[in-house]
Amino acid sequence: MPGIYIHIPFCKHKCSYCDFCSFADKSAYEEAYMACLYKEMELRKDQLKDYTFDTIYFGGGTPSVIDPKYIYGAVAQIQKCFRLAKNPEVTLELNPGTISESKVATYKRAGINRYSFGLQTAIDEQLADLGRIHNVRDYVYATNLLKGENFSTDIMLGLKNQTKEDVFKTIELAYRCGSSHISMYALTVEDGMPIYTDYLNGELPDADEVAALYDYGRGLLQERGYARYEVSNFAKPGKQSRHNLNYWRRGEYIGFGLSASSFMMGNRITNTFDLDEYMKCILSGFIPAVDSEGVTRKDARFEKIMLALRTEEGLDVPAFDKEFEISFAKAYETALRKNEAYLEQKGGRLKIRDEYLYVQNSILMPFMEDNEKNK
Ligand code: SF4
Repeated sequence: MPGIYIHIPFCKHKCSYCDFCSFADKSAYEEAYMACLYKEMELRKDQLKDYTFDTIYFGGGTPSVIDPKYIYGAVAQIQKCFRLAKNPEVTLELNPGTISESKVATYKRAGINRYSFGLQTAIDEQLADLGRIHNVRDYVYATNLLKGENFSTDIMLGLKNQTKEDVFKTIELAYRCGSSHISMYALTVEDGMPIYTDYLNGELPDADEVAALYDYGRGLLQERGYARYEVSNFAKPGKQSRHNLNYWRRGEYIGFGLSASSFMMGNRITNTFDLDEYMKCILSGFIPAVDSEGVTRKDARFEKIMLALRTEEGLDVPAFDKEFEISFAKAYETALRKNEAYLEQKGGRLKIRDEYLYVQNSILMPFMEDNEKNK
């Protein structure tokens, strides 16, 4: 079922590795921005009247940095403008250094039933290096406030001086604090980020070292009862993120707010990244999209393969044949042959063998080449 994404672009401080559309110096715009966000929903409501949404996800930025009344208001506006399924999953991203008892009370009243913490690491020096505003004590305090609630924790690999022991401490902390879901991502570094200097100076672990940390972390997570269901995502039974599963199944979603992207009715749409332009557009009654393109059949096929092979459930081959009116086995014969050692097929599902999921990019390349050969 389709999902709703809401982008909150405000943060207290810009982290050294941040590539997201977020601002540390624009909190004065919070109220005006949220009013525009509510209006954007109004502008889209007729177009989406036949849809039923079953997930809502507040991401950013740092959704927990703004006054919680706006989160309450956004959920209320969604309920007013769109049809929701019974028991929707409603997730809010949290920075451990920005929450309080009264904020949590408002989130609960708003209907938030899943939280996602950006912990990143349980080593305070590494948090300081990343420019994060929280420390380990903040995370322990924040998770205590959410005792009994369903929450996830993001952790990061590839940090300066990071060892297996650091990964152990981080996973152990998230586990002991009651995280039902853990996302374990590798740090990606781009030119222009403050952390890029560390990369140039050779101070960050190389790809092989990160892969070794990943294998180690994956083993620990499995021992503690978190099953991998996507290359970077691990969950206790029944605690997978429904919102993200919809992305990987190439389901539809609508995004509201600055830089938000949507995939609806075969089109990929991206909102502007410029805060002034976003607000001007909305106030003039226009959808703030800067890019909208129909996905070709060929691109849709490759997207489906690429997303499905990130997951443990893999690609449903008979469903693929039916959806695209093509024989997967014939169209991707060369890729299947080249990747024979890395793939397995069970009950009509094709997936990457467990030990190779982390290196999926090289496996996808032959699929891309075969995809080009077919219309
Ligand atoms: S909290 Fe997240 S969005 Fe905000 S600056 Fe840090 S990495 Fe970027």
